[in-house]
Amino acid sequence: MLNNMGLSKAARIILVGAPGVGKGTQAERLLQRFPQLSAISSGDLLRDNVKNQTPLGIKAESAIKSGALVPDAMILRLILHELKHRGWIQPPKGTVGLNLSTTAREQDFGAEDHFVNSPTLANLAAPPRTSDDPSASFILDGFPRTAGQAGQLDNLIPINLVVSLRTPAEVIIERIAGRWVHAPSGRVYNTTFNAPKVAGRDDITGEKLTKREDDDEETWMNRLAKFEETSEPLLNHYAQKGVLWEVSGNSSDEISPKLFKEFEERFAEGPRDP
Ligand code: AMP
Repeated sequence: MLNNMGLSKAARIILVGAPGVGKGTQAERLLQRFPQLSAISSGDLLRDNVKNQTPLGIKAESAIKSGALVPDAMILRLILHELKHRGWIQPPKGTVGLNLSTTAREQDFGAEDHFVNSPTLANLAAPPRTSDDPSASFILDGFPRTAGQAGQLDNLIPINLVVSLRTPAEVIIERIAGRWVHAPSGRVYNTTFNAPKVAGRDDITGEKLTKREDDDEETWMNRLAKFEETSEPLLNHYAQKGVLWEVSGNSSDEISPKLFKEFEERFAEGPRDP
């Protein structure tokens, strides 16, 4: 299999899937195979702002701590600034007075920030200009989480592939039930496909393995119910835009080759002349 493939145009993608389906694994594999892709995580951007105690970080901190979603306007501003900073979106032609030189972290997110505080942010008369250069390719992680956020993002930068990752619930539950960790090192085992040499013991230290706190069936069923509630309108939104693609499999290894193939057909450079 070829490694490190080039892209022919900008890929702007989102992975959607139930907790435990392996979104992180697929994202990591895509990033490895397509070096022009980068990941933008709304959670990481927020945590960065909290750590640096920016005005936005201070406002968002309590929502993040309680596990609630932060307000849409806040998260949109964060993404917008990140995309501007990377040079992947530019203000609409003829627009003046937008400060494009600051990073999400440096930006003063105060009330005087006209562009991002504009009530017309989601309905700009002309949408920002989007770079189609392959280097402007990204996987958005954690955003958009709702159809409302997706609609607002459409006005800033059009996503051109939404991957819905599907694994039967009973398979994910089995995977979670079989998962054991060695907490001090982070080594993960699975009694069905990656069992420790000695049952219940870490291979290297021989210490006892434990369960992760959120690895129980009831917790997972609750998270799944929440996910299904919000993902359905989100997926419908993108189905209507014609950018939704679904892939099913019982494991990450089963899903990856299908995902790579689809991704390559849409975005990879054709074979070059020798
Ligand atoms: P994550 O790392 O994606 O789990 O995000 C951590 C926290 O950041 C979430 O629990 C929310 O409080 C906040 N957050 C991240 N992304 C979003 C989003 N798209 N909309 C609202 N809140 C978000």
